[in-house]
Amino acid sequence: MNSWAGTMHTPNSAAAAGATANSAGTWGVGRYAPSPTGDLHFGNLRTAVAAWLFARADGLGFVVRVDDLDSQRCREHFVDSQLADLQAIGLDWDDRGAELRQSDREAAYATAVDKLAGQGLVYECYCSRKDIQQAASAPHQLPGEYPGTCRDLSETQRVKKREELAGQGRGPALRLRAGCSEFSITDRLHGEYTGRVDDFIVRRGGNLAQARDYAYNLAVVVDDAHQQVTQVVRGNDLLSSAPRQAYLAQLLGLAAPEYAHVGLVVNANGQRLAKRDGPISLRTMPAARVVGEIFASIGCAGATSLHEALESFRPEALADDYVWAAG
Ligand SMILES: [Zn+2]
Repeated sequence: MNSWAGTMHTPNSAAAAGATANSAGTWGVGRYAPSPTGDLHFGNLRTAVAAWLFARADGLGFVVRVDDLDSQRCREHFVDSQLADLQAIGLDWDDRGAELRQSDREAAYATAVDKLAGQGLVYECYCSRKDIQQAASAPHQLPGEYPGTCRDLSETQRVKKREELAGQGRGPALRLRAGCSEFSITDRLHGEYTGRVDDFIVRRGGNLAQARDYAYNLAVVVDDAHQQVTQVVRGNDLLSSAPRQAYLAQLLGLAAPEYAHVGLVVNANGQRLAKRDGPISLRTMPAARVVGEIFASIGCAGATSLHEALESFRPEALADDYVWAAG
């Protein structure tokens, strides 16, 4: 059982490390970090409101970050429309107009990977997706988990593999040399949660002619630390990624944030809400209706603003998935 009563934010390790209070005069920061790959829909907006409520209820600062790491899928016009939609539902944030963007952060990610490499904690991986699928069919392996094929290759083998890939115009990925197979985090809604840690990718491989993207698991850890984020509230589809990220933070000498993985909005079939479920964004629904539905779904029915919702906000109301019934 988690106890909600008397949850106060006190100066933490970030403060001890010499960090300064944020613009709200408090220690610690919460955040919402959408990827600009489409319009924010009801489920995304609900998570944004949840993140804001958690942060403000604890007296934390709050920032919005643009997680536009995936250069193939992110679109500039969605950056503008997402930020406008967040404002339209009444969200305020401390860095408005100066939101951090992952696409500007390559140097910081490179520094983090260099730091890991300096400790012998990364290695090149030459596997294709197909290679990994085939090798990962061993009985002790979970689906999608890296089986460690390239972990212990000799330098001679690496030179050969590197040349083979270069012949196809491709470069290797970089993987973390994980020192454990599972790691535990504490979550406000799920309590202690232990999840698998494998040798996950920190920088993607791929076309040698193009810049290769750093992995989300790396970027999110580096950026949260950079922004002094002490509280990560996001959808529970990311709960299983949290142990990897917290473990990576530890390897980089960074404090892991407090987590709260909130329930998702699902359709009548229990599937995560998506475009196919009809008019679910502010393109097709008035902001007042969306906000009203969000408040009703988190036990704050009748509130007319986020600040009003704060008065009746109970974190545990966000634990379960919410079924979207409106048509
Ligand atoms: Zn490999």
